[in-house]
Amino acid sequence: MNVLGHTKVLGVYGHPIAHSLSPVMHNAAIRALNIDYIYVPFHVLPENLPRAVDGIRALGIAGINVTIPHKERVIEYLDEVSEYSKQIRSVNTIVNMDGRLKGDTTDGPGFVRSAEAAWGKIDGCRTLILGAGGSAKAVAFALARIGCEIVIANRTHERAVELVESLGKVYEAGTFRAVELGGQALREEIGKTDLLVNTTSVGMYPDADSIPIPPDLLRGNLMVYDLVYNPGRTRLVMEAEKRGARAVSGLKMLIYQGALSFEMWTGMEAPVDVMEEAALQVLGDISSSKA
Ligand code: NAP
Repeated sequence: MNVLGHTKVLGVYGHPIAHSLSPVMHNAAIRALNIDYIYVPFHVLPENLPRAVDGIRALGIAGINVTIPHKERVIEYLDEVSEYSKQIRSVNTIVNMDGRLKGDTTDGPGFVRSAEAAWGKIDGCRTLILGAGGSAKAVAFALARIGCEIVIANRTHERAVELVESLGKVYEAGTFRAVELGGQALREEIGKTDLLVNTTSVGMYPDADSIPIPPDLLRGNLMVYDLVYNPGRTRLVMEAEKRGARAVSGLKMLIYQGALSFEMWTGMEAPVDVMEEAALQVLGDISSSKA
């Protein structure tokens, strides 16, 4: 990769940032398409966020991904924000349009696109989302936009109720409900579900033996999507597959949200297979170094 005076700079702002797979994925895509870009990780402390955003303008950085903990706060420093980002109060992609910074989020759309790559159209499907945090919100709003019925079950029930209320303010109320995470209500709900999405961190390394719901609730005719991507195959994914369900791991969402950002910046179709291969390589190296 030759970095020259006209090379366009892309990157990611986060704290911490060392673990991010985005530089690996994006630089692999840049190499595969042989385009004049480079993607750099930037460790941005919360107190430096306003200056770091100004730096995009000052340095002519072409595009930036924004990750934890800056996704909400960055909004106040941008010139323009998409309607969807306003709804979920989150930005993960900044496009520099001749000094004007536009924020958008590809997390939810990346989820939908990766789910459709695995299963075909999911418009209007009955969805049960486990969790009510930041990623649940991104996924729920993206699914609501394509007409899905959504039920939310979260450990802290009030957060599920809040998410349902915020969905109902934007989309047709009544299509969204909250249920308790444990007990009979969940059992009944899952019987009516097409798509089960885990957006909790349950099952994430090092607690890889954990599972967000009892495995006996899983059935063969479910589509199961686990946002957790480390380990690559979570216990939820394995238990679902054991019962004949079709399951997708969180790495797909990570790849597709990156692919959509890449397309916003470059105007080119992202080579998702190349990006996935590069991310898998690093995840493989990490797990073998833990073994
Ligand atoms: P978050 O905003 O902190 O929300 C965490 C959620 O997990 C909350 O609903 C929380 O419930 C629930 N939770 C945490 N520990 C739990 C436990 N022991 N039992 C039951 N519920 C528990 O986090 P987030 O940003 O949404 O991320 C959640 C997960 O998604 C993480 O594993 C993250 O790596 C993954 N993720 C993946 C992608 C991807 O591209 N694949 C993107 C974003 C996030 P309470 O409300 O009760 O605390």
